[in-house]
Amino acid sequence: PESKLPALGTTIFSRMSALAQQHNAINLSQGFPDFDGPRYLQERLAWHVSQGANQYAPMTGVAALREAIADKTAELYDYRPDADLEVTVTAGATEALYAAITALVRPGDEVICFDPSYDSYAPAVALAGGVLKRIALQPPAFRVDWAAFASLITDNTRLVIVNTPHNPSATVWRNSDYDALWQAIADRPIGVLSDEVYEHICFTEAGHASVLTHADLRLRAIAVSSFGKTFHVTGWKVGYCVAPPALSAEIRKVHQYLTFSVNTPAQLAIADMLRQQPAHYRELSAFYRERRDRLIAALANSRFRVLPCEGTYFLLLDYSAISDRDDVSFCEWLTTEVGVAAIPLSVFCDGAFPHKLIRLCFAKQPATLDAAAERLCQL
Ligand code: PMP
Ligand code: GLN
Repeated sequence: PESKLPALGTTIFSRMSALAQQHNAINLSQGFPDFDGPRYLQERLAWHVSQGANQYAPMTGVAALREAIADKTAELYDYRPDADLEVTVTAGATEALYAAITALVRPGDEVICFDPSYDSYAPAVALAGGVLKRIALQPPAFRVDWAAFASLITDNTRLVIVNTPHNPSATVWRNSDYDALWQAIADRPIGVLSDEVYEHICFTEAGHASVLTHADLRLRAIAVSSFGKTFHVTGWKVGYCVAPPALSAEIRKVHQYLTFSVNTPAQLAIADMLRQQPAHYRELSAFYRERRDRLIAALANSRFRVLPCEGTYFLLLDYSAISDRDDVSFCEWLTTEVGVAAIPLSVFCDGAFPHKLIRLCFAKQPATLDAAAERLCQL
């Protein structure tokens, strides 16, 4: 059959992790921790399994989890979503993003995203028949040029995909970015899909700016998050989205037939975790700041140039003093010859990306970071 996604291969994350394994390299490529989530969370999962919570969860998510999400949102963003009408639990953030795009984008609709951008947005837009318009952010600041953004808007624009803290650039939006976004789209029927999976990993003084704090944008926004990042359990694949009732209803129509519902005992365990140990997410930024700073310090004597890191668990390095290779072949060489796997930035962009930048994941034990930095310092 003719492929609907002819240009698409296996994701860079799977490829680099496989290459790392094959060459026994330290894997700082695909974003996942090399340590476990909280013991309490594991115990609650086992408990709920033992209590027979092993059948389908409600389609929209277990009530205890939706309530806990609503409370966390109220605590952090000054807005309490209706747990029944506005919170939907999904199979990771990936499903929420896909369901939202599928529900909202019609053939020919234009969707704007900011490059570099996370790899799941473009295929979802393509499968919906939408047209993705990418606006390039320039390193090292990766800030949005709002005049350029406004010039991309047409009568066909339906959705803007935002991601803050941003994977892979590790920059974060300010409230002023939301104000600028609102100014640009206020008079038009354009929605906002806000990928906030790193909401609890933000190092700026002002902290994470959620779209939910913006009283106007909130009325047409879908905020997406993931417990994989927050509780160090990327393999559990539990995420959620918060959106106004009418938008949530449309997203649920897709979710209902994409997965129907999400792992029951994991939802219950996460609800317990949110209720009983909120310090975990409140202290997550400090936890990751320590790892970020450790890696930066360990690289101080290397020939890499470290870019600013305001959020996420990723750090960008410029390797132009070390090699002329393009970033994909540099990452392959780094994995096979140096024993450190990283992600090339160009894979998050459409077309030419003339920069020599790689992404390292620092969601790793201190010893892992030290060992990787030692190898990188020899270049
Ligand atoms: N969005 C971004 C920006 C991500 O980095 C990731 C995961 N790494 C996801 C979405 C997907 O999250 P999940 O694993 O919960 O599906
Ligand atoms: N989001 C993770 C990253 O950026 C990868 C998730 C995946 O492998 N699809 O590394």
